[in-house]
Amino acid sequence: MICPECGSEYREGFTRCCDCDVDLVVPVESEPDAQLVKVYAGTNPAVLPLVESLLDEAEIEFMKRGEAIQDLFAGGRLLGLNPIVGPVEFWVRSEYEDQALELLAGVDESHVVEEEFEEDSPEL
Ligand SMILES: [Zn+2]
Repeated sequence: MICPECGSEYREGFTRCCDCDVDLVVPVESEPDAQLVKVYAGTNPAVLPLVESLLDEAEIEFMKRGEAIQDLFAGGRLLGLNPIVGPVEFWVRSEYEDQALELLAGVDESHVVEEEFEEDSPEL
């Protein structure tokens, strides 16, 4: 978070600049010229490469977010978090959104991820 007035950086949790008494804003990262849309987000290590290869084959440029975090935690699991930190998000340019969603809809159907449901559903 940064102050739009003086540019001071604040840690998460702060909402106002104590010097200027204005609301803090989330710093805007350098924006790509193309608009990106998220077309997939998942943590299933079996599906992610498939998503990637489908987009590759369709020659849809994509950007992944989340992997850096995974790598970080893979190096040192000191925080007691689940080693699979996710999800990994796939972003494509907005003009490819429909095409990508169509491709990836097939992925979800062919790789139904069975969540671990608790067998004993609590009775109210
Ligand atoms: Zn300020």
